[in-house]
Amino acid sequence: RDQALAQYQKMDAIGQLTGGIAHDFNNLLHVIRNALELLEKRLGQVPPEARQYFDMLKRNAERATSLTHRLLAFSRRQVLDPKPINPNTLIVDVTTLLQQALGESVEVETVLGAGVWWIMADANQLETAILNLALNARDAMSGGGKLTVEISNAYLDETYAGAHTEVKAGQYVMVAVSDTGTGMTPEVAAKAFEPFFTTKEVGRGTGLGLSQVYGFVKQSGGHAKIYSEPGEGTTVKLYLPRLTGSGVPQAETRAPSVVHGK
Ligand code: ADP
Repeated sequence: RDQALAQYQKMDAIGQLTGGIAHDFNNLLHVIRNALELLEKRLGQVPPEARQYFDMLKRNAERATSLTHRLLAFSRRQVLDPKPINPNTLIVDVTTLLQQALGESVEVETVLGAGVWWIMADANQLETAILNLALNARDAMSGGGKLTVEISNAYLDETYAGAHTEVKAGQYVMVAVSDTGTGMTPEVAAKAFEPFFTTKEVGRGTGLGLSQVYGFVKQSGGHAKIYSEPGEGTTVKLYLPRLTGSGVPQAETRAPSVVHGK
């Protein structure tokens, strides 16, 4: 318990720090991207001999912006658009995308929840979170393997005393992403949610994938946990607060448009 509380406080402190830096950095990048746009307008046309460098500036300013957004997600400062989602529907929609992203050497299995359960979350962010988990799974299964995405109902009753209540008792919908890959040592698993923590080569990993997932889940009022065994594989479980009673959409229970606003 004490250890869990200390870990929670540590993540909170890292979140505040990275959030502050990412926020200021984002503003600076905004200025740079605006200036590039104005420059392009002023010039009417970028001289051909400058085009390559101009594009390089634009591309990298955009990449840097997306990195700061992932940091902001961890620090729970991003703007979410929560709507009622039926996770079963969302999973059905992303399965094809997952299979494409993971290639033929990975078998993708989805196990849908036995009931019609609703959660309140940002559908795009939940999709991004599942994709992030799947890409990590792919990296851990270079020789092929199996990815399982499972939806189930879960009740968490852990509560921490005091001002910091990390896990609130209640009903959740669990989204579990499992792989049969390399797994993590307890040391790696303990740090995996921290921003910039990576065991991958420079250029391959940013260390922001899981921190983004963690931030999204926390901001949605949920919890994230890692279960991993070296040589066996990894399961990341996301617990999202289940909508009950009047929170459940009535007229729209079968409308898939609730899931995809695209
Ligand atoms: P990145 O993937 O860029 O390294 P992440 O935050 O997504 O950043 O992951 C942090 C680290 O956690 C990874 O470098 C890896 O060591 C470990 N990890 C994450 N997911 C898995 C997984 N499914 N199997 C094994 N290790 C994992």
